[in-house]
Amino acid sequence: MSEAPNFLSMLTGSFATPAAENPTVAMIEAVYRHHHLDARYINCEVAPDALGDAVRGAQAMGWVGFNCSIPHKVAVIAYLDRVADSAAIIGAVNCVVRRDGRLIGENTDGQGFVTSLRTVADPVGQTFVLFGAGGAARAIAIEVALAGADSITVVNRDPKRGAELVALVEQKTPARAELVVWDRPYRVPERTNIVVNATSVGLFPDVEGRLNIVLDSLRPHMIVADVIPNPPQTALIRDAKARGCVTLDGLGMLVNQGVICVELWTGISANATVMRQTVEELFA
Ligand code: NDP
Repeated sequence: MSEAPNFLSMLTGSFATPAAENPTVAMIEAVYRHHHLDARYINCEVAPDALGDAVRGAQAMGWVGFNCSIPHKVAVIAYLDRVADSAAIIGAVNCVVRRDGRLIGENTDGQGFVTSLRTVADPVGQTFVLFGAGGAARAIAIEVALAGADSITVVNRDPKRGAELVALVEQKTPARAELVVWDRPYRVPERTNIVVNATSVGLFPDVEGRLNIVLDSLRPHMIVADVIPNPPQTALIRDAKARGCVTLDGLGMLVNQGVICVELWTGISANATVMRQTVEELFA
């Protein structure tokens, strides 16, 4: 006996503004097609004062989950039933999952970074230098600290934002943290294992943007990671490669945070290569 037809797709999507330049829809729909999933990802332009209605709408329509991007990652928490532990520490949610009708907030940005990092090194016991103290930096700092990092030096222009992140790491994780206020070219200490750019320096159209660092302080034993997905070959990645460092581009974090979201929503282990190829073509 053949099964009854089912014309009801699994629904997911993204709420952000601006939304038009967000490539996530292409990356996720490509992997849904690859796995023959009857699922959709709908990229939605949602203004700040419409966020509550958007969340209630997704809930009413039975969406299995959605991403939140700029500027909703903090505000969305007010509309959720529960927030996962690391997302609660980070104070931001980029991925909402419906479980038994309840909405749960996760933060997959830092987890995606850790997955990407693990392709070249285990974070346990490592000494990090982290540029930036915004949303991406907070997510990365908390996840690498919870994954066993030894210490994190936060290098940031704004001392208040930097100090808040250092206090968060020290209070909520076993890792040690210190702040360097970034008011001159920064020399990366020789003992550093992993260097991470989590500022927006280098993001299109600022494609030649360079961090204010002493380039010769990047040494071949260091892993240098950038969060910037577009372009993937930032000036930092090129400079670090030229100095013999192992590098990780921002596509690794973008793809792996998406892999985690797809697994949370659909239960499938998404093919990261398909997702990476899709965004590589988009940013080529
Ligand atoms: P925020 O606005 O929250 O933070 C920006 C950070 O960059 C701040 O620490 C700011 O320093 C710093 N910064 C900006 N300009 C400069 C500069 N010229 N020199 C030094 N520091 C600077 O942004 P997010 O953290 O949300 O995003 C940062 C980047 O991360 C974006 O480019 C985004 O595309 C990328 N990202 C990538 C993801 C991925 O999956 N690959 C996921 C999420 C984000 P200050 O505090 O001193 O102003």
